[in-house]
Amino acid sequence: MIKQRIVLRFPPQIVEQPVIYHLIKDYNLMVNILRADINPKKEGRVMMELSGEEADYLQAVGWMKNQGLQIMNLEQQIIWRSERCTHCGACTVICPTEALFFERPEMTVHFAEDKCIVCELCLRACPARAMETLVDNTNFR
Ligand code: SF4
Ligand code: SF4
Repeated sequence: MIKQRIVLRFPPQIVEQPVIYHLIKDYNLMVNILRADINPKKEGRVMMELSGEEADYLQAVGWMKNQGLQIMNLEQQIIWRSERCTHCGACTVICPTEALFFERPEMTVHFAEDKCIVCELCLRACPARAMETLVDNTNFR
């Protein structure tokens, strides 16, 4: 058995396909959706945890790639360089999941990795370049 957290990016042309249904029915995977941002006819993102037999999982990954889905291993996708952070708060306004947030009463910014859906909005918002993305597909399973 394996358990893997991934982010799926759905291009607009396939955003309405029943991908989750196929993962469960055709590949015997358990799907735990952690976060979803799907809009009809627009790109969508779903952060999920998949668990099941490794062979089933690998077949499912192949099938999803063939469907045109982008798959990213969620581990260490977004990195917060706290030493560069000036706690300006620009990212906390733009972060859709509150993964970047002010902690009171100190009013310092913190990063809750488990809430991050790897939307990368904070990369553009951060004037100090404290947010980085790490795409490590060599770890992808
Ligand atoms: S990538 Fe940045 S803005 Fe997007 S959810 Fe993660 S921390 Fe928030
Ligand atoms: S935008 Fe950058 S510098 Fe400002 S609080 Fe967020 S991570 Fe820190």
